[in-house]
Amino acid sequence: MNTSNTTHTAWSTDAQRWAAVTERNAEADGAFFFAVRTTGVFCRPSCASRPPRRENVEFFNTPDDARAAGYRDCKRCQPARLPRDLEIVNRACAALDADPQQRLTLAQLSDAVHVSPFHLQRLFKRVVGVSPREYQAARRGAALRDALQRGEDVTRATVDAGFGSPSRMYDNAPADLGMAPSAYRRKGAGLVVRYASAPTSLGFVLVAATEKGICKIAFGDDVSPLVDELRAEFANAEVKEDAEPLRPFVAQIDAYLRGTRQQVDLPLDIAATAFKLRVWDALRRIPYGETRSYSDIAEAVGSPRAVRAVASACATNPVALAIPCHRVVQKGGALAGYRWGLPRKAALLDAEARHAGGNTEDGAPASFETNDLDHVA
Ligand SMILES: [Zn+2]
Repeated sequence: MNTSNTTHTAWSTDAQRWAAVTERNAEADGAFFFAVRTTGVFCRPSCASRPPRRENVEFFNTPDDARAAGYRDCKRCQPARLPRDLEIVNRACAALDADPQQRLTLAQLSDAVHVSPFHLQRLFKRVVGVSPREYQAARRGAALRDALQRGEDVTRATVDAGFGSPSRMYDNAPADLGMAPSAYRRKGAGLVVRYASAPTSLGFVLVAATEKGICKIAFGDDVSPLVDELRAEFANAEVKEDAEPLRPFVAQIDAYLRGTRQQVDLPLDIAATAFKLRVWDALRRIPYGETRSYSDIAEAVGSPRAVRAVASACATNPVALAIPCHRVVQKGGALAGYRWGLPRKAALLDAEARHAGGNTEDGAPASFETNDLDHVA
């Protein structure tokens, strides 16, 4: 496969970001924002406005950063806006979260967010996984109360990201993904995080775990940046190197990379919004050796228009391989981005294609599903 003409990975460098802007790459939306000095406006990467000159552009990670530097939101691409459906659900969750003890009827709620009760009911259920009424009941329920008593700002953590649903998180997520809520503690306060690293065919892998499960699997060319990143993410945890207990997990990853194992089957302890959990769960259902497009996943989680949010969920996957975000490519087969670098994504897909099924004896190169030809919206 040819990836040499694709330079963006997770849009972490200015060069990658500029490439995404010139391509108007909608998958980069949300990953960063670009501002134009001559107009004083900042945009999402996919903005349809006339492309600026490189020397007039600077990049920001968040709309707030861009505003703090004196830029205004672009009226055309409205860079800070969530996809409309998610925005509605987000507002509904905020209304319900405002006072969990209050019992809002569907009619009152739909008045508050300005959509019809019928539409709201369906939309809410699709995005959050439960009805507004169930959501409210769960908000009052024991699971959430317990979580809040532990001092976690669970509501803010989820609503911040725009897809609030503590109830879904606690009631359904552990069964779906085998995860525990402990990682929701901000920056790992009170947790012990152990890590190990090892050389692999894809460079160094770092595996980190809390007492409940794996919280990070990452690849890099060197170990120390991976450890720095881990320490930053779990700034309030006790982070220590401890290879011995993690050895079986590292061995499993190694076997996977060698093609002697087709599944990375690890207990996970990862933090996410309800929406991300749904995306990650869908990723885990993509069979070994196959790929799906971002829109396929958006459909699979019942939010067909949330393609950008799906791309962002892939880009923030904390556990490489265990959640196989490398199996999501653009319609038409372009690799799009990968948090740990496109060459690694290409190598993983190549290896899976070679080891899956019986059609690989001749060492034929990996091919992607090319039956859908649109680009990501
Ligand atoms: Zn714009």
